[in-house]
Amino acid sequence: MGWVTEHHPTTDELNACVQCGLCLPVCPTFRLTGRETASPRGRLQAMSAVSAGVVEVDEAFASIIDFCLGCRACEPVCPGLVPYGRALEGTRAEIAAQLPGRERQRRWAVGTALGSRRLMRLAGFGVSMAQTFGLLGLAPKKYRRVSNGLRSLRDRGDSVVGDVVGPGDIGIIGLLAGCVQDEWFRPVNRAAVQLLGMAGYRVVVPERQTCCGALAAHDGKAAAAARYQARNFDVFGGFDQLIATAAGCSAHLAGYRWPGHSPETLDVTVAVARAIEAGRLPRSDIAKGDIAIQDPCHLRHAQRVIREPRLILEAAGYRVVEIDDDGLCCGAAGLYTVLQPEASERLGAQKADQVRSVGTTRVATANPGCEMQLRSHLGIDYEIRHPIEWYLGSLTDEGLV
Ligand code: SF4
Ligand code: SF4
Repeated sequence: MGWVTEHHPTTDELNACVQCGLCLPVCPTFRLTGRETASPRGRLQAMSAVSAGVVEVDEAFASIIDFCLGCRACEPVCPGLVPYGRALEGTRAEIAAQLPGRERQRRWAVGTALGSRRLMRLAGFGVSMAQTFGLLGLAPKKYRRVSNGLRSLRDRGDSVVGDVVGPGDIGIIGLLAGCVQDEWFRPVNRAAVQLLGMAGYRVVVPERQTCCGALAAHDGKAAAAARYQARNFDVFGGFDQLIATAAGCSAHLAGYRWPGHSPETLDVTVAVARAIEAGRLPRSDIAKGDIAIQDPCHLRHAQRVIREPRLILEAAGYRVVEIDDDGLCCGAAGLYTVLQPEASERLGAQKADQVRSVGTTRVATANPGCEMQLRSHLGIDYEIRHPIEWYLGSLTDEGLV
């Protein structure tokens, strides 16, 4: 039957692969298994076989695609500039269209719940109550990693949605609060609003915004992702800049094709690093010791943002310690922890070992999924926060804010 939707990988995208194999050593799933079908090249060949009508979009094909993390570590090393992430999203949309019965619950969760602030608040309240009464241990086993990695929601404070902060001398920023980020990682959003306001921006967090659509798009729910995107076009179309505080969201925003004026979309680490370099935010002179840094795939591989989180941590007074020169995925990867628990477990354990080996219990990561994966593997002796939280904490301790 071949492809049936408009989202499928194009012939140009697939033919860009010259089958050189340079992507194999950087692919976490190939490194775990050694199987060609678990490599970028093998997956692209499987997609090409569907395009040519040689194989069907069936369960066997879907399992090859399901095992991919979507980490995009294969993109920066690729001489053919294969847009692997785009081809993967299109293929997942095809699987969702051609095998609709396999994921009904997920369709509701990513297609409806993430876009509803009311439902997300309800979920946040439920999790907060479960934490208070010690009920998270009763969660089904496959959700245990997620629940063990959560921050305490009891003291998360208020949402920034609706806030308007800062003088606006140097521009107006729209802040995407995010779906999961707004509920479970509010201190990161608050740090972003405070720091960017201090830097001289007017930071606006509009009420009508919705989820960026990253989780829906990565899961093949193309219609839901397009619906979320259309709402955000309306809400953020007039801003100079659009900032997201989760690396997965900023990477997805970078792929938006705006119908009219296009705001500059940035990860918050880039915006804060620029403000520090321009002298609009201070640097600490007080040395505070080592901190381990973990690069989220959607920052390092998808956006090629590597320098900025390090600059922020150094400006906070820390000595940044590298844990992984290849920037291998930690195994969180959106819903991967739940959908592919065994591979996710192995990658998470490997990343945790790398952190333990450098001998500091401070860890910085700029993505909520990575933070939860690290915390669930490292335990409560490790303090894991976003780079801008470490930075704001440092300025606050020194009385610089
Ligand atoms: S590096 Fe790029 S061109 Fe080479 S095999 Fe991998 S995807 Fe194909
Ligand atoms: S996205 Fe990640 S897991 Fe998937 S093929 Fe590329 S490197 Fe491998």
